[in-house]
Amino acid sequence: RPLLEIDRVTLQYKTTDSLVTATQSVSFNVHPGDRYILLGPSGCGKSTLLKAIGGYLQPTSGAIRLKGREVHEPGPDRMMVFQEFDQLLPWKTVRQNVEFALHASGRLQGRAAAERAEYYISKVGLAKFIDSYPHMLSGGMKQRVSIARGMAMEPDVLLMDEPFAALDALTRRKMQDELLRLWDDTQFTVLFVTHSIEEAIRVGTRILLLTPHPGQVRAELNSIDPSQ
Ligand code: ADP
Ligand code: ADP
Repeated sequence: RPLLEIDRVTLQYKTTDSLVTATQSVSFNVHPGDRYILLGPSGCGKSTLLKAIGGYLQPTSGAIRLKGREVHEPGPDRMMVFQEFDQLLPWKTVRQNVEFALHASGRLQGRAAAERAEYYISKVGLAKFIDSYPHMLSGGMKQRVSIARGMAMEPDVLLMDEPFAALDALTRRKMQDELLRLWDDTQFTVLFVTHSIEEAIRVGTRILLLTPHPGQVRAELNSIDPSQ
């Protein structure tokens, strides 16, 4: 069976005077080692779907199952990297931010956690800043710490919502190349949201296209293998 099943998932937002359908009956399966890109224009429901997979939102109907078990809340098996870089604990260093996630989730303790943190911090090019506090880093560097922290958890699925949006073009390109090498070597399973076709083709092994429809936002999925 697939690692992750998105089974006829509809996601709606209820506001005081309206009902917004972000995704309607979206289905796809995620297999280990692939990198799935959720590609589509702004407003077509990409972030909403990713948050639901992360366990931050409940489907209005349908189900999201990881290894056959329905997900209802966030967990260390589905780490999410957000677009914004305001998620770090300001009173902890880069190293401590990454280690804290490992400790708190029960993933790793002591020397093993320290080594894991060092490895992923160096993978995002921040070895020299491992003992710096977040406020000493640029926005792009903080975002790279969040990426290192998400990866260090070695989740079943790494969920990334436009993780490179805050980086300048050169750093974005370096990160894409560096992380692609790492993901190919380690067979990370990644779900990656972007509106950039160029980024989708560069990063993905599978591209899921979400298309909005006038009147109601409805998603349809087509799987494109960019290597074909
Ligand atoms: P597999 O188990 O081989 O991964 P999937 O269930 O992921 O199969 O999907 C098989 C094909 O059907 C893929 O091309 C996928 O994108 C497409 N598909 C899945 N759900 C929908 C949908 N709601 N609308 C259109 N195409 C879909
Ligand atoms: P994308 O990530 O593709 O840009 P989103 O998932 O952010 O799309 O949004 C999908 C739809 O849901 C949009 O119409 C958006 O306006 C709406 N939406 C997103 N978040 C909320 C919210 N908290 N309350 C009400 N509507 C929302």
